[in-house]
Amino acid sequence: MKLAVPTETGAGERRVAIVPEVAGRLVGAGVDVAVQAGAGLAAHFPDAAYTDKGATVASAATVLEGAEAVARVQPPTPEEVQKLGEGVTLISFLQPASQLPVVRALAQRKATAFSLDLLPRISRAQSMDALSSQATVSGYLGALAAAERLPKFFPMFMTAAGTVPPAKVLVLGAGVAGLQAIATAHRLGAQVRAYDVRAAAKEEVQSLGAAFVELELETQEGSGGYARQQSDEFLARQRELIGNEVAASDVVITTAAVPGRKAPLLVTTAMVERMAEGSVVVDLAADGGGNCELTRPGEEIDHGGVIVYGMANPPSGMPTHASFLYSRNVFNFLTLIVTDGQLRPDFDDEVVAGCCVVRAGEVVHEPTAEQLKETAS
Ligand code: NAD
Repeated sequence: MKLAVPTETGAGERRVAIVPEVAGRLVGAGVDVAVQAGAGLAAHFPDAAYTDKGATVASAATVLEGAEAVARVQPPTPEEVQKLGEGVTLISFLQPASQLPVVRALAQRKATAFSLDLLPRISRAQSMDALSSQATVSGYLGALAAAERLPKFFPMFMTAAGTVPPAKVLVLGAGVAGLQAIATAHRLGAQVRAYDVRAAAKEEVQSLGAAFVELELETQEGSGGYARQQSDEFLARQRELIGNEVAASDVVITTAAVPGRKAPLLVTTAMVERMAEGSVVVDLAADGGGNCELTRPGEEIDHGGVIVYGMANPPSGMPTHASFLYSRNVFNFLTLIVTDGQLRPDFDDEVVAGCCVVRAGEVVHEPTAEQLKETAS
């Protein structure tokens, strides 16, 4: 089987789907790995590192030739799908709900497409969980971005010149990214408080040495460990209750998300205006619409002396290790669908079926199939 690794084409994307170490593992398992020349450069993996591991380096024009499988980070464009061989198997983040033209193009190519963002979050699939691995990078970078922008220390310092109190960091949303932001800020010595709508988050927050903010609100558990979509009334009440916490913080890091929905609004302009000059808001939900009213994805704005930074595609900001982890996730998924060097996905397996969007040209992911029908009529 030939696996092609094209260069990512999304604006600002620096990750690569397969790193040299994983290319070597695949070659060892009997897979021909073809990497587009320069595909790993932005993540600091030169072409020679791939050839050293037994992969071939090919031009953009030839890398896809004869490839039965293609590994990417971001979804291809509909034009890029046209260049894939008929019946190809694609593994990437697809986010099908927002990529209907790509899904349609993949179906026309009779492709089979696995979207790692749809992978069931069960224990057996943890090693393939690319959402988690990339959220870990986001949370870490979010805390560092805040520390860098804050004109104060994170840790407490007792010096001969005087004592500096620790920075007060508030993390809203304690999923994978939020927990990593908490851990990183805590390691830097900040005083960390956090809030999440899921009941399970309280213990996780406390186990990291942070305090859990108790709000007089009912929990909002959805399925699969996620939060459910919250009503406008709930969010309005939440904003009312969290206002004083935000105002008292030097740093607010927001990570709140509900799968398939626009990110909930947690921090309003009025709340930012109550924060002290020099405070920082880092919005890790910027790509999903933002948790802060002032967020502009990819931009850092100064609102009355408070910095609001909407981090766009945070994992791409640390491309070497983000690619390493993503690549391991892809490898672990491939071990599930490749037997004796050949693609043999078992569609009775809930992990395989759960993240399959298109199977040999048929859109098998129900919500996506329905959306396609609606847009066609
Ligand atoms: P996510 O990125 O969808 O959301 C981030 C966080 O925002 C979640 O914790 C969610 O509860 C929270 N949130 C949503 N609305 C909010 C609001 N209004 N206010 C405050 N917080 C709000 O979630 P995620 O980080 O991808 O995962 C969430 C959880 O899923 C994890 O913490 C874990 O429990 C579970 N999970 C399980 C596995 C597994 O078993 N393999 C893997 C990963 C995650």
